[in-house]
Amino acid sequence: MITLTIDGRQVSVPPGTTVLDAASWLGIRIPTMCHVPGIEAAASCFLCAVQIEGRRTLSPSCAMPVAEGMVVATGTEDVRTARRMALELLLSDHAGECVAPCAAKCPAGLDIPGFVHALATQGIATGDTRQAMQVIGRHLALPGSLGRICPRLCEQACRRCDLDQGLAIGALHRYAADRDRAAAVPYLPPRAPATGRSVAIVGAGPAGLAAAWYLLQNGHACTLFDTHPLPGGMLRYGIPAYRLPKDALDAEIAGLRALGAEFHMSARWGEDFTLAALRQVHDAVFVAIGAQNAQGLGCPGEGHALPGVGFLEQLAQGNPPPLGSDVIVIGGGNTAVDCARSAVRLGARNVRILYRRGRQEMPCLMEEVEAAEAEGVHVDLLVAPLRLERQATNLLLTCRRMSLGEPDASGRRRPVPVEGSDFVVACSTAIAAIGQSVERALAEREGLRITAWGIAAEARTLATNLPGVFAGGDAVLGADLAVRAVAAGRISAASIHQYLTGQAVTGEPAIAGIAMQPVDDAERAAIFRAIERAGRVRSPGIPMERRLAGFDEVEEALPDADAAREARRCLTCGCRKADCCLVRSLATEYGVDMYRFAGQRRRFSQDLSHPEIVYEPGKCISCDACVRIAAAAGEELGLATIGRGFEVAVAVPFGKPLSEGLRHAAQRCAAACPTGALALRTARACDCAE
Ligand SMILES: Cc1cc2nc3c(=O)[nH]c(=O)nc-3n(C[C@H](O)[C@H](O)[C@H](O)COP(=O)(O)OP(=O)(O)OC[C@H]3O[C@@H](n4cnc5c(N)ncnc54)[C@H](O)[C@@H]3O)c2cc1C
Ligand code: SF4
Ligand code: SF4
Ligand code: SF4
Repeated sequence: MITLTIDGRQVSVPPGTTVLDAASWLGIRIPTMCHVPGIEAAASCFLCAVQIEGRRTLSPSCAMPVAEGMVVATGTEDVRTARRMALELLLSDHAGECVAPCAAKCPAGLDIPGFVHALATQGIATGDTRQAMQVIGRHLALPGSLGRICPRLCEQACRRCDLDQGLAIGALHRYAADRDRAAAVPYLPPRAPATGRSVAIVGAGPAGLAAAWYLLQNGHACTLFDTHPLPGGMLRYGIPAYRLPKDALDAEIAGLRALGAEFHMSARWGEDFTLAALRQVHDAVFVAIGAQNAQGLGCPGEGHALPGVGFLEQLAQGNPPPLGSDVIVIGGGNTAVDCARSAVRLGARNVRILYRRGRQEMPCLMEEVEAAEAEGVHVDLLVAPLRLERQATNLLLTCRRMSLGEPDASGRRRPVPVEGSDFVVACSTAIAAIGQSVERALAEREGLRITAWGIAAEARTLATNLPGVFAGGDAVLGADLAVRAVAAGRISAASIHQYLTGQAVTGEPAIAGIAMQPVDDAERAAIFRAIERAGRVRSPGIPMERRLAGFDEVEEALPDADAAREARRCLTCGCRKADCCLVRSLATEYGVDMYRFAGQRRRFSQDLSHPEIVYEPGKCISCDACVRIAAAAGEELGLATIGRGFEVAVAVPFGKPLSEGLRHAAQRCAAACPTGALALRTARACDCAE
């Protein structure tokens, strides 16, 4: 036996053992990508490099036999730097995308191809959407509500936009949630055994509800405190029922109650309780009070205008104020459009939105503006209010025309007043819907640090300056989007869990990922080669008379057949091995800069000729593992490394198809391939060797 020392520990192994294997006897993991147990070493990836005392350079441990008295160090800074560099070089020309482009754009990082695949293969046909809900629930709470109101940033990034039209992603997760809601036993995620720890959540809007959804799953008790009588935040008291019916929201909140959430409603932080008192009773606090305060018009007479969110709240509580017949809404965002469309439904005859910038600059979905116009709302652009006065029963609003100047800090073109363009409009009600702000004074009074727009929280962890107190959603970002609030709830839950279990508070793990930017015409052709053009399905809308007569939901659910057709349009982009790719996990472990040496990358192409596996040569790192496995398996043709330099690739000799090269060893090759270059055809199968 030969005795050597690895990382300060002695081990005796038979002669001929490699340093890599000797280390594994000690339980020391040395990373390697090209090593295949039982097959001769290739020493090509250099990831297994170690420092051997007395040698000037690092040595590949997979090809280095042990020697008596050898002293090996496997994790020195030099070794780590060499591994990081080896990975960065391997990735420099990688033609792959770890995450589908749609998922990369969803602020919550929803696994879109994953849940759509679950719907397409099983959920829609059987009516059982539990599997889809399980995939959705890992990243996204409240999928039914968000499917209705999210501006769907994901759809704009959908690869199908380059072929026909982006997938109806929001409508599909709404479909999954609505189907689940109708099931005898709706999906509930498993809950870990109770930890005995409790979290107070101030604010039961989407951020607070999402935090509870994830904390409860980890076994922590959650109590939500909210000043309103019912939970939901702006989803209940802001967004009107014709976009988000409250029974859909209630069903999602019922799921939280079933998981064990407790609600203390009509309890106002700053009046009914203090942060200090919560911190005494609970082990951690999440502050998610949103941006609930309406901003004034900022002109003389602003007090005559109804605050937009106040009006919508009264409406949500069933007692809308009388508006009269001529309503002017000032603002260009979601609140303004919702106020105008609600005013139409309440019977106002002339409803006009005044916005100081252009249509392109309106901070809401264009579909919403178009829907408002179809319902009779008139949108008057490039108009700013100057003065509001009461005259008998009417209000007189003096306005000034604007033109568009250079872009401002928000990237939108700045409105510039046009001198001498003032005009006066009369109305029965003016509604100010120009924005909402956070109650920062309250937060500051309670010892929280604040920023210009909300509560200060560390970006990755959402920790505030007070130990054990976290904050997120609109309360931190200022008035924003529900999907970002839901994402903040999940991130804070990860941090709070770390805090409660005595771990370092680092937030969710940041997983390395690479994307193909840009995709050129030849690659697009390769991606769409076998794909038929098919326009997206549209959610059916209720007839206009019903729209105008009340607050029934305008967009109906997708019928089963349409949902199935839409789900089948998904190309399941992203890497089949994203969750088990060794390059990606090592890149994450070693803090690799994925684009450090990025230069000209290889072209994306796909070989679908084999019945069991898919080959994407642009992801091959030439580790040679498949070549050696095919040879060891006695494949007649097998594989060979062909070409030179940039063009080097694994292929079947003599230009034969993959199915002839790999007659028996295809699955083994796919399992051993350290990247997504060779993968099982089964979409999203995790075929890693572990
Ligand atoms: C009219 C309108 C339309 C919108 N449309 C869209 C849309 O189409 N798509 C989209 O993505 N987003 C939309 N939004 C934005 C979205 O609703 C918000 O970004 C989201 O609700 C923020 O979630 P949150 O949990 O951070 O805060 P909120 O939803 O505001 O919830 C905060 C909660 O905290 C409670 N609270 C506040 N202060 C206290 C206190 N002192 N004590 C106790 N409780 C307190 C409140 O009662 C509330 O329940 C819209 C917003 C409005 C107002
Ligand atoms: S939450 Fe919004 S951005 Fe994310 S997948 Fe759903 S619709 Fe797309
Ligand atoms: S086709 Fe499917 S996976 Fe690909 S970007 Fe569109 S929604 Fe995402
Ligand atoms: S295709 Fe073969 S050579 Fe290329 S990375 Fe995968 S296993 Fe290695």
